[in-house]
Amino acid sequence: MPLNRPLIVIVMAAASVALAGCQQGRVIEELPVPTLIEHSARARRLRVVKLPPSVTRPPVTPRREGALPAGWVPAVAARQWKWIVLHHSATDSGSARVFDKMHRAKGWDELGYHFVIDNGKGGPAGRVEVGGRWAKQKWGAHCKVPGNAYNERGIGICLVGEFGDRLPSAAQRASLRRLVEFLTDRYGIAPANVIGHREAPGTNTQCPGNVMQRYVGLTLRPHLRQRSRLARAR
Ligand SMILES: [Zn+2]
Repeated sequence: MPLNRPLIVIVMAAASVALAGCQQGRVIEELPVPTLIEHSARARRLRVVKLPPSVTRPPVTPRREGALPAGWVPAVAARQWKWIVLHHSATDSGSARVFDKMHRAKGWDELGYHFVIDNGKGGPAGRVEVGGRWAKQKWGAHCKVPGNAYNERGIGICLVGEFGDRLPSAAQRASLRRLVEFLTDRYGIAPANVIGHREAPGTNTQCPGNVMQRYVGLTLRPHLRQRSRLARAR
């Protein structure tokens, strides 16, 4: 308790003064060096000492896009894709394997879509499954219209779920955005050609559901347009 000592000294000095009366001069001469002042001065000096600026800031690492998922880039020559056609499965659950089985049961060659985006019921939420026909760059079997142009040159993406009254999950939307960005970049597909199934002339379907269709028209396509504007401005 270093602060107590000077106080005691002061108290003792005061007592001495009181006792000594006019002998005050002598008593003051006997006072020790006031350590209280020394402490205060030292404390003030310590308070104003500035710490050196930090030199241990973490290095800034450039943001890197992750590697493309396996299977997105086919090993064979690209088909001349013109459209991306978006679907919902209109089922609560499902996966590429489940729909492949359904489509084969109808007598089709294999899964009709090129990609399936899972919803957590049949596969992990947001997982992009690559269908067998994508690796072969084979025409689709998902958007039948007279002349069959949308199957011949349309990439079919199906989101598992029923989106008449609700949006695909955030995980599905994020995966869809990434996949569509990749496909439009790689194959030079215009944002206007990223469509909901019902938009293909000659179709008569509710697919991909009212809410998802609004999302395609009001969110996804504007996002792609903005993105291509920015790319052109670079
Ligand atoms: Zn459809």
